[in-house]
Amino acid sequence: MTTETAVTGQDLNTKFQALDMPTIYSAEECDRMAGVIAEIEALKKERNAAILAHNYQRPEIYQVADFVGDSLELARRGTELEEDVIVFCGVHFMAESAKILAPSKTVLLPDMRAGCSLADSVDPDELVERRDELRKLYPDLMVVAYVNTTAAVKAVVDVCVTSSNAVKVVEQLDSEHILFVPDEHLANYVQKETSKTVISWDGNCYVHHQITPENILSVKKGIPNLKVLVHPECRSDVLELADAVLSTSGMVRYAKESPADEFLIVTECGLSDKLILEVPEKKFYKACKLCQFMKMITLDATLESLRQMRHEIHLEEGLRADAEKSLRRMFELS
Ligand code: SF4
Repeated sequence: MTTETAVTGQDLNTKFQALDMPTIYSAEECDRMAGVIAEIEALKKERNAAILAHNYQRPEIYQVADFVGDSLELARRGTELEEDVIVFCGVHFMAESAKILAPSKTVLLPDMRAGCSLADSVDPDELVERRDELRKLYPDLMVVAYVNTTAAVKAVVDVCVTSSNAVKVVEQLDSEHILFVPDEHLANYVQKETSKTVISWDGNCYVHHQITPENILSVKKGIPNLKVLVHPECRSDVLELADAVLSTSGMVRYAKESPADEFLIVTECGLSDKLILEVPEKKFYKACKLCQFMKMITLDATLESLRQMRHEIHLEEGLRADAEKSLRRMFELS
């Protein structure tokens, strides 16, 4: 369901309506959540655990998170933590990335149903087959994987990228031909921004793919100074309407630093909640969709995860080490 709602830091009720989950935040439920938050905080100390949360998580998850960020920031932060346990409030491939980079830590995902349709759209065997076919035509071909991929895919590619560093990393590769997996829209964006030949995989994020130019134009009408910030997983006809194409944390930085006061946020709906909290003096509109996978992570699931030390991410060591090489290469080039 598309929501196009103006929300400000001064109006929490509006914020919760904009989230399209108004009944969850009744006064009784907020009291109950406060108790759950206190239990989570106590268990974090007992288990020597830290909570990492993606920008698309529910706002109450931000309350228990030690760090909230985009994929790149979370991957980096996971390697710097002193705690023995990481509870990852995000989706499965993100928790896998934390385990790849910090193998000695226990990494927990509160709900194993929190997958990602984009990550699931590429199979490693199929990818290797396609790569080998293409290398007959383009011997210099390199395979670049968006971090929204499984560990098994990361293990067979040359380098990973995030939405914030994809262009920079691809530009630096010693190859003119790139097979980019799995997001076709991010691949098209990279193609426009670089001189390389980018061959895209046939995948997309079902959340961003549903956002249309009409969603943006209907909000823009009548607000002349609105700055449109668009995530690069969106379709190219949506990207054409952007004042800036940015990762989620890039949008937060842009909103803080820009002299503009009004923004249209075009990505998963949860990011607007982070903007409300971090930039309360500015006004945000949104043309967005909810990601069902991100929203599967709840406070209750996070509490149970810490109580029962579930659900732990396990990776076979050879695969983990291969996947680590493609992530480390990204860090070197970004
Ligand atoms: S927003 Fe899209 S890419 Fe991100 S987890 Fe959801 S389905 Fe996957």
